[in-house]
Amino acid sequence: MDALPDFDVIRPTSIAEVVAARKAHPDSRMIGGGTDLLVNIRRGIEKPPVLIDTAGLDELKTIEADETGLTVGASVRLVDLATHEGVRRHYPAIAEAAGSIAGPSHRNMGTVGGNIALDTRCIFYNQSEWWRETNNHCLKTELGEMCHVAPKSKGVCFATYSGDLAPAFLLFGGSVDLAGPEGERSVAMNDFFIGYSKQDGSTGDGIVYMAIKPGEMIVRVRATGTPGLNSAYDKVRIRRTIEYPVAGCAAAVRRDGDAIADVRIAFTGTNPRPVLLEGTDALVGKPWDENAQQVVDDLCKDQLMSMKTTFTPGHYRRRVATQMSKRLVGRLFEQPA
Ligand SMILES: Cc1cc2nc3c(=O)[nH]c(=O)nc-3n(C[C@H](O)[C@H](O)[C@H](O)COP(=O)(O)OP(=O)(O)OC[C@H]3O[C@@H](n4cnc5c(N)ncnc54)[C@H](O)[C@@H]3O)c2cc1C
Ligand code: SF4
Repeated sequence: MDALPDFDVIRPTSIAEVVAARKAHPDSRMIGGGTDLLVNIRRGIEKPPVLIDTAGLDELKTIEADETGLTVGASVRLVDLATHEGVRRHYPAIAEAAGSIAGPSHRNMGTVGGNIALDTRCIFYNQSEWWRETNNHCLKTELGEMCHVAPKSKGVCFATYSGDLAPAFLLFGGSVDLAGPEGERSVAMNDFFIGYSKQDGSTGDGIVYMAIKPGEMIVRVRATGTPGLNSAYDKVRIRRTIEYPVAGCAAAVRRDGDAIADVRIAFTGTNPRPVLLEGTDALVGKPWDENAQQVVDDLCKDQLMSMKTTFTPGHYRRRVATQMSKRLVGRLFEQPA
């Protein structure tokens, strides 16, 4: 690791002060707990001259949770989300996802806003400066001209989104509240993440993966409750105690008699965006049997990428994600409401 370069830190105490600071310093970056950003700065991946610290924003440190809805401020620490009684009771997948992030010290520092806005990752990007320079950089560093993962990619990056919270929020119709120079707005989380990496460039990719405008910050994330929905989160990582996920899966199931009444599955660590699996409504009204599992297999094969952006082969990661989702849905199907 290299030494940290010089930068200034601004410590606002209100959203209005953040927006003003962002306007005054267009090259600035928001910093929550710094558990990811500071690593990237040390590696020379990012060189912001100014950091705007969200730790002083008390108005963004609240959690409201009941069976109808969940609202979480961007400066809430992961440990507080993971241990919140209302979140654990009504949104267990979200509490479990928060409790599975990195290690205890990261969860004491890391924030919800920082986790949602987590940068995408790739073995050719999350390296030291000299390593990246030796490999002539790549598209995501702006100094390179090609993608090493997909050399024929037409300017598109496939770096993987691996934040754990987003898939869990996606189960519950998650949305993101943003504040910026034009005021506040709310965006459905499924529209907020735009890393589809289409070769025609019609959407975002591993470089531009969020629909956030210049000068905007995340202020809150929200979820909507559904009565009778069982939910859970699981992930696979190389070092079980502390590691970004190889793949993570959030699932929610509501059962009616012997049939599935509602099923939702979402992933992280597979694509340049968290993926809310489309087409699971084909399982509604049916039992959780081999046919239903085949449907999940087919949907995952179609929607999860198998690019090698981490140490594990891409197709292995997709198989792990698929197996994990079937295991999770099976468990939730058997669990009493
Ligand atoms: C060893 C190790 C293991 C890790 N394992 C995991 C893991 O298993 N799962 C996982 O999800 N993460 C993991 N992480 C990454 C990180 O610790 C977490 O994602 C954490 O939640 C990031 O939150 P933070 O507040 O520290 O973000 P920061 O590092 O402060 O910021 C991260 C990004 O979010 C932006 N940002 C911060 N706040 C806002 C805001 N309010 N609005 C807009 N943008 C904002 C920053 O500019 C930056 O780009 C790991 C990190 C390390 C070093
Ligand atoms: S996917 Fe390609 S462009 Fe993106 S970070 Fe990896 S090597 Fe770079």
